[in-house]
Amino acid sequence: QAKDHGRNHFQFFSSEMNERMQERVMLDEALRSAIANDELLLHYQPLVSLSTGQLVGLETLVRWQHPVFGMVSPVRFIPIAEESALIASISEWVLRKACQDIRTWIDQGLTGFQVAVNVSPRQFRDPRLADRIELVLAEYHINPGMLSLEITETVLMQDTASSEATLRQLKALGVDLALDDFGTGYSSLSYLKRFPFDRVKIDRSFVRDITTDADDAAISKAIISMAHSLGIRVVAEGVETAAQCQFLRRHRCDEMQGYYFSRPLPPVEITALLLEKRHLPENILIHRKSTR
Ligand code: C2E
Ligand code: MG
Ligand code: MG
Ligand code: MG
Repeated sequence: QAKDHGRNHFQFFSSEMNERMQERVMLDEALRSAIANDELLLHYQPLVSLSTGQLVGLETLVRWQHPVFGMVSPVRFIPIAEESALIASISEWVLRKACQDIRTWIDQGLTGFQVAVNVSPRQFRDPRLADRIELVLAEYHINPGMLSLEITETVLMQDTASSEATLRQLKALGVDLALDDFGTGYSSLSYLKRFPFDRVKIDRSFVRDITTDADDAAISKAIISMAHSLGIRVVAEGVETAAQCQFLRRHRCDEMQGYYFSRPLPPVEITALLLEKRHLPENILIHRKSTR
């Protein structure tokens, strides 16, 4: 009886594993032709200044629209791409497309904000990363100061000495550096001192319960004060409510990003948002709230 049960359990487990593996193989296969088939696209999510309510940045978020699988989340396909050389071509595509969009905005007179691009672990280990970025920026005549690179703390922990060298190389290019998803790994606040970051992004998981969970509130406040004492700006991720926004403003967080202000949007909608801001004297946050 017990043996039967055990065997059934094993079969169930292995067929589930099998299914997952098949899904990975299928996605990996399809991902190989995603660029050529024009299935990747970019959305941008605004970063808003908590003191002025102005849009100060945009985070580039890649999307994969497959004709059969539908919209596949980057949470699913980036790790698959990471396991092969695919991540290199996807990252290159993202950087080029983002620079192309930045160029279009500049040509329309829309400036005064930074655009952030996520750097994957494997991409970060590419010894030619800085050269590649420099080339693309030059090609589109974009001031490096307009680009921000988001790097997660787990990436830095793998080899801290070489990570530091890579970050200094990128910093020398003139781009901004942001420490992404801060608090989710096992790094300490000392990373903020050691590495040349301009911004730190408090992970969404701390922001979620910031107004109800004393620990999350304490951690967020500690990150903000430590970062500020080192001259680093703080961004809160995943802000969804007015209460979270108020808490963050009260504790001097610099910028926020989240559904409370805006979901990630296609470039045309970002253009409209940027034009709207230019034509409206009142601050954009108040305006957008009043039109809901
Ligand atoms: P991330 O860099 O931490 O990006 C923020 C994620 O939080 C995005 O998910 C965004 O849509 C989501 N988000 C923003 N505001 C809210 C909110 O108020 N509530 C909630 N619940 N979620 C919010 P997304 O677009 O699914 O991207 C997931 C992750 O995939 C990103 O996390 C990033 O690590 C990775 N990713 C996205 N695009 C790229 C890319 O071009 N290259 C690389 N290497 N990774 C990427
Ligand atoms: Mg990010
Ligand atoms: Mg993040
Ligand atoms: Mg995050």
